[in-house]
Amino acid sequence: MTGSKEFRLAGPEDGLPCTNCGMVRSRADLDRLLWCQGCIDASRARAARLGWGIGVVVAILAALWIWLFAAPTDLVWGGWAASLVALLWLGARFGREITYGVYRARGGPKAPDALPGVERPPPGLR
Ligand SMILES: [Zn+2]
Repeated sequence: MTGSKEFRLAGPEDGLPCTNCGMVRSRADLDRLLWCQGCIDASRARAARLGWGIGVVVAILAALWIWLFAAPTDLVWGGWAASLVALLWLGARFGREITYGVYRARGGPKAPDALPGVERPPPGLR
């Protein structure tokens, strides 16, 4: 049986293409969905930015609702402000996780190094 290549199991030294960007990576550098670290980082960064946008929208809508319908008195103004800050933070976190989940299911932004010869800024600057 030794020397037979038919039954050799694929080892960590064998490369596989990342299912998001297509770059061949070592199996050890791919996660369970076969994404490379660059794609994970790019998707996380973009999902975080989108999440903050969602959080801001949620906080603005809540502020409008408070202003128009709840009509806060001066006594509880600080409580309403704290609620808005909490909504902003929660909206950003939920938005980030949902956006990241959608990226993982459907394919997210490609890793910056996935396109050789194409100059792209680091994920944080886009
Ligand atoms: Zn990738």
